[in-house]
Amino acid sequence: MQAVVNRKWTLVGYPEGVPDDATFRMEEAPVREPDVGEALLETVWLSVDPYVRGRMSPVKSYVEPMTPGDVICGETVARVLASRDPGLAEGDLVLAPMGWQTHAVFAAEGLHKVDLPVERASLALGLLGMPGLTAYFGLFDVGRPQTGETVLVSGAAGAVGSAVGQMAKIAGCRAMGVAGSDEKVAWLTGDLGFDAALNYREHKDLRAALEPLVPDGVDVFFDNVGGSVSDAALGLINQNARIPICGQIAHYNAKNPPRGPRPFATLLVRRARAQGFIVFDFKERFPEAMAKLREWVEGGRLKTRETVVESIDSAPQAFLGLFSGDNIGKMLVRVAK
Ligand code: NDP
Repeated sequence: MQAVVNRKWTLVGYPEGVPDDATFRMEEAPVREPDVGEALLETVWLSVDPYVRGRMSPVKSYVEPMTPGDVICGETVARVLASRDPGLAEGDLVLAPMGWQTHAVFAAEGLHKVDLPVERASLALGLLGMPGLTAYFGLFDVGRPQTGETVLVSGAAGAVGSAVGQMAKIAGCRAMGVAGSDEKVAWLTGDLGFDAALNYREHKDLRAALEPLVPDGVDVFFDNVGGSVSDAALGLINQNARIPICGQIAHYNAKNPPRGPRPFATLLVRRARAQGFIVFDFKERFPEAMAKLREWVEGGRLKTRETVVESIDSAPQAFLGLFSGDNIGKMLVRVAK
């Protein structure tokens, strides 16, 4: 067999502020043949995710940082090109932590077969993958919505946020979203059935703009972004509100810790609970959640949209697009057909 050439994006160094072209380097190298218990994989779909920005920093977090020279990390749906493991056959699709590269040899142990038809396999990186699970546990376990309550979600038109609002509707709540364009707002209130949504870029006084859209106040504020959107939302929380802190993307590129309103006085007087969570804290319960997610997806109660960027060459562009709001729904790179 002719040697397969891998094309991979590696980390040049830790960026300060917003990463740019100098943060990433494209390298090419032949891939070795798989050994016993291994498989040669080809990336089909690459997920680009905001958490990767945290790994491009030497600061200690809940996962180890990348080291300069590493392949940029990322989850993929990959195709088995050759296998020396009885559990995997040529042509199988697997969930694999390939990162931003086209080909690699992996131990078969630790790879998970994608149990979806090829034309829907990308769902394993979205609604039926980490973002769907994040929405599920963040909303139901941390947010604990009750029928009739109001759920406000920031980053509402993204992979996690769009699922949160739809799950809030399934739970019998009023769903309200904040997102960064009129097109996103129209998608949320149209196709996805949110009760209301607001384009935060259009309003200077966000709290004043949000208030009429949540006439009964906010019982669950699912925070994906932080920054000024969170400051505004906090002012509208009800007594005993729950605030699942899922992400703070507005801060990920900040060179210095941002200063803003200090929220504890509001939490105190409203007897509210803000709780950070990481989806992997719920690992033991992934099968339970996945069964529910599948049921809702197959029943048409959970919908999604994908923003697809073509080719491994464009992985940095897709990733950086997360920080400028280029995506509606899940941001993906199609690496191979
Ligand atoms: P998204 O699909 O939501 O993409 C990111 C979105 O964030 C963009 O589309 C953009 O939309 C919005 N955004 C970017 N910068 C800003 C800003 N400065 N202010 C407001 N909005 C901004 O990503 P994910 O769904 O994958 O992730 C959403 C959040 O959840 C992230 O913060 C991520 O880190 C976090 N997360 C946490 C997990 C956990 O276990 N806790 C697991 C997975 C994700 P817009 O046009 O609306 O600005």
